[in-house]
Amino acid sequence: MMGDRDFRTTIQTALSSIGKELQLDIDPKNIQTIHLQEVVQCLRRSYFDRIDPVEIERRGFNELLSGLLRKLEYGSESKEFEIDDIKLKGQTDMIVDDVIMLFRPAQGELENPIANDVLYLNACLWIYDKTEGIVVYITGDRKETTFSLTRNKKMFEEVIRRVRVLNNLLKEQKAPILEPSVECSECQYYEKCFMKKKNSKHVDIGEMLGMGKFGNKG
Ligand code: SF4
Repeated sequence: MMGDRDFRTTIQTALSSIGKELQLDIDPKNIQTIHLQEVVQCLRRSYFDRIDPVEIERRGFNELLSGLLRKLEYGSESKEFEIDDIKLKGQTDMIVDDVIMLFRPAQGELENPIANDVLYLNACLWIYDKTEGIVVYITGDRKETTFSLTRNKKMFEEVIRRVRVLNNLLKEQKAPILEPSVECSECQYYEKCFMKKKNSKHVDIGEMLGMGKFGNKG
């Protein structure tokens, strides 16, 4: 807060409107078209996003990276892959020299790529009929970590299975089962799946044990 103006609210509003501008355009009623993003994340979350959506709270501009790249002139066109009467729609961030490229934000340097990104990248390789792809993680202080992937059929079959499951559950109007993961703590449906979030008081364990502040070695 500076003076009378609440800059946090202004920034949140800006992030939320840019986020809406960049988010995938999913028609909730068209259940015969399933978007790749919907099946690499928790299916229950994707189901609620279509049936009873709650807006997500965005934390920073870094999160918008991928959506921004897709909208720019180097961004690639979305493509569809037919699975019987269902269309799986995916969009990579870029294709350079026949290599599929994804860009994702990261908190720090990663040892391994995030599982959802590996599923997404691999599925893009099948949708665009390419053999190699990379995912580039970029941190807030502009450090990059890159991982490469050669396409894998088994992994794509898992994505196809999830497409069918989501399509069926949307048809039957049945919420998918919980898929507990690290994604839950950031998910806007946490309270629907688990319990009300409580704001607990911060406790300094060091002080409680009479050790002074943590990190104070004196
Ligand atoms: S809280 Fe977890 S299980 Fe529930 S919808 Fe969100 S990601 Fe899925």
